[in-house]
Amino acid sequence: GSTLGMLGGGQLGRMFTSAAQIMGYKVVVLDPDPQSPAGVIADQHICAAYDDEKALDDMAKLCAAITTEFENIPAQTLAFLEQKTIVHPSSKALASTQNRNVEKNFIASLGIQTAPFFAIRQQQDIAEAEKVIGFPAILKVATFGYDGKGQIPCKTIEDVYAGFEALGEKECVLEQRIDLDKEISVVLARSQTGTIINFPVAENIHVNGILHTTSVPTSVHAEQAQKAIQMANDIAKGLGYVGTMAVEFFVSQSGEIIANEIAPRPHNSGHYTLDACHTSQFEQQVRMLCGLPAGDCDLITPVVMVNLLGDVWGNSQPHWETLLSETNIKLHLYGKQEARPGRKMGHFNVLAETVDQAMQQADTCFENLKAD
Ligand code: ATP
Ligand code: MG
Ligand code: MG
Repeated sequence: GSTLGMLGGGQLGRMFTSAAQIMGYKVVVLDPDPQSPAGVIADQHICAAYDDEKALDDMAKLCAAITTEFENIPAQTLAFLEQKTIVHPSSKALASTQNRNVEKNFIASLGIQTAPFFAIRQQQDIAEAEKVIGFPAILKVATFGYDGKGQIPCKTIEDVYAGFEALGEKECVLEQRIDLDKEISVVLARSQTGTIINFPVAENIHVNGILHTTSVPTSVHAEQAQKAIQMANDIAKGLGYVGTMAVEFFVSQSGEIIANEIAPRPHNSGHYTLDACHTSQFEQQVRMLCGLPAGDCDLITPVVMVNLLGDVWGNSQPHWETLLSETNIKLHLYGKQEARPGRKMGHFNVLAETVDQAMQQADTCFENLKAD
């Protein structure tokens, strides 16, 4: 069959859909939102809830293979589809990444370092956590958090008690705050036979807990990059993962490589691959899903990716001409109607001779976009 399925209609699903269509596939997107970025460009958009068995049945009948762009698709949805068609990543792999406590325990079980953490399921756990976790710390909801949402910085144990209440006493993880030197990520593609190909390590700058820029190549030492790649690959293998995935890492002031979290899907920090690599992370996702050989992951040029959040819009359209008149910049917009603050609307890639040049130009262009 030449039809592929995508669970989730966000921008990651949209870029997968484009990549698949370029390769001649038809794509069926399942997402409850009729205006979803991927749904509107799909060959077919099934507008239904992720637990709608009739809709899932329809999708399985249409699709030779199904993947996802969103870690919070219920694992049962994937398990249901697995009985009917090919699904990658598996429900089991996805389930290991849907709860921060489960995920961190899994990472630690592979002998990979995480920030010191302690599960907080009830108030009594906080006193126990204090014996293990130093301050400052961060309290994070265990499920459904993204872009820094559901996170409360804690300077004292009192902050943790207050934070747990503020988060509705939902299951949380208390994490020691790492003194960061840098943040990096590894995007990889793993095949059905277990072969892994790595994109170049990326260096990430976050603003208010949301990714702002990604630069490649990075300034981390070769041994550190190699260590991160090895850890990411061990995690992918441990999950039995098939497809494109990413692992976010902290580089501590003392130079340690510490795993932060797993993204069981293409990752925002891999958007640079769209213009700066021979094969994009989304094309790799198509290739892995279809059991095709991986493409070449090599970097063609230094690059800086800048995220465009809804904040850039303000009351009017950003000044696109200023950006588009730079011939070495590629603009990607996700077709979202409403530009809310903090909402990921698009990104641009600056291709230059050095990362420093790209970063300088990126900063200037980003400022000029919103200048009014
Ligand atoms: P994403 O959108 O990447 O899924 P998220 O909401 O899952 O984000 P995290 O990746 O856990 O959030 O944290 C967001 C950012 O907050 C990190 O990239 C880092 O900059 C900072 N941060 C989180 N945890 C820690 C920590 N333990 N020590 C230091 N900084 C941290
Ligand atoms: Mg996350
Ligand atoms: Mg993160």
